Amino acid sequence: MSTDLKRRSIPFSPPDMTEAEANEVRDAIVSGWITTGPRTKKLESIISEYVHTEKAICLNSATAAMEMVLHVLGVGPGDEVIIPAYTYTASASVVQHIGATIVMVDSQKGNVEMDYEQLLKVITERTKVIVPVDLAGICADVDKIKEIVTRPEILAKFRPANDIQKLMGRIIVSSDCAHSFGAVRHGKMAGEIADFSSFSFHAVKNFTTAEGGAMTWNLPFGNEKVERQQVYYGSPVPFIEGETWNEFIYRISQLFSLHGQNKDALAKTKLGAWEYDIIGPWYKCNMTDIMAAIGLVQFERYSEMLKKREGYVAIYNKAIDALNTCLDTEYQVAYLDHKSDNHCSSHHLYLVRLQGRTRKEANKVIENMAERGIATNVHYKPLPMMTAYKALGFDIANYPNAYHLFENEITLPLNTCMTMEDVEYVIENFIEIVKSL
Ligand SMILES: *Cc1c(COP(=O)(O)O)cnc(C)c1O
Repeated sequence: MSTDLKRRSIPFSPPDMTEAEANEVRDAIVSGWITTGPRTKKLESIISEYVHTEKAICLNSATAAMEMVLHVLGVGPGDEVIIPAYTYTASASVVQHIGATIVMVDSQKGNVEMDYEQLLKVITERTKVIVPVDLAGICADVDKIKEIVTRPEILAKFRPANDIQKLMGRIIVSSDCAHSFGAVRHGKMAGEIADFSSFSFHAVKNFTTAEGGAMTWNLPFGNEKVERQQVYYGSPVPFIEGETWNEFIYRISQLFSLHGQNKDALAKTKLGAWEYDIIGPWYKCNMTDIMAAIGLVQFERYSEMLKKREGYVAIYNKAIDALNTCLDTEYQVAYLDHKSDNHCSSHHLYLVRLQGRTRKEANKVIENMAERGIATNVHYKPLPMMTAYKALGFDIANYPNAYHLFENEITLPLNTCMTMEDVEYVIENFIEIVKSL
């Protein structure tokens, strides 16, 4: 064993925080304004500028953002939302929250993306939204989904329920971009590719505000004017003459996120402006300025962080290519395609599959890595294997490709607190352990 392999301790995804984040949070705390206010608004404009959308709304999680999309679209009981089986629960749970029906689609064979043949088969007259997941930070093929939902026979099935659905005139694509802040595909940023996109700024993600998230949207009619009063869950939303759809979506999302109250706390601080109305009995999922303070500093550091991740992934890829030359074809280690001429991921997670191996063998590798101080993870145990989704009637037998992706998957640590030596330590140990299988 070389000296480089002397035992280290490598956490899976610690938050990458510096004095700068701590100072900005301190400034927010002593500024006299700690909840949604100027720092949140600033972070929203930074995000929308970064992902090339007219607007962005910051919320307390990606889960809230994904649920918000469904509220804005007026999706509810009787409607169906299609999600992949191979994802995290939040992609699906929000569908349950609003009382719509979850429809799950298997993955492609050996590929984390949805099986588009199967997707085509499960679309019905009740389908309102399709949720692709940018797994590991790699943008899903939203163009393919848009092509599918604009086929004449699929368009003919669409039954729009509110004005936004009517203006779309087709099934809406709402991307789970929890992993993909900063990712690019065909020259477009995650956030501007799908109709709606939801980012996560949870502590384990690339870019974090401890807890947090953002919703962006890119709609063909976004700059057109809203022509009549909109009603949500029976509550008429005050009509504003000349308001565009982008402005309306921002306003309705703010209302949903703040009790349906027509004045936020900041507006109420104006002397004498105590009076407010409750437009609808809605939700509470706004971002605080303390959270936004972290995000403002993270953003300044983000391009460096992305570069570092990209470099580490290149090292992992190269080492695994070399490992594969020593392994029989049936046992080759597979990794995801994070970068090519037409895409660059956010390099969020480094998933590998020990092809030809069982879950038991993969778990053994996880244990051996842990003995050497290296934290790994599994992304994902497919939803139909989880108690909650089994209880809803989902059966993993119907999702064989998702099962096979999970069967021998291991996620190696990839984070910006790691040094080059840490990365080498991880990959050298991994290779040694895999070779010993
Ligand atoms: C983390 C994650 C979410 C949830 O993000 P929150 O901000 O914690 O709500 C959703 N989808 C995927 C794929 C995730 O990994």
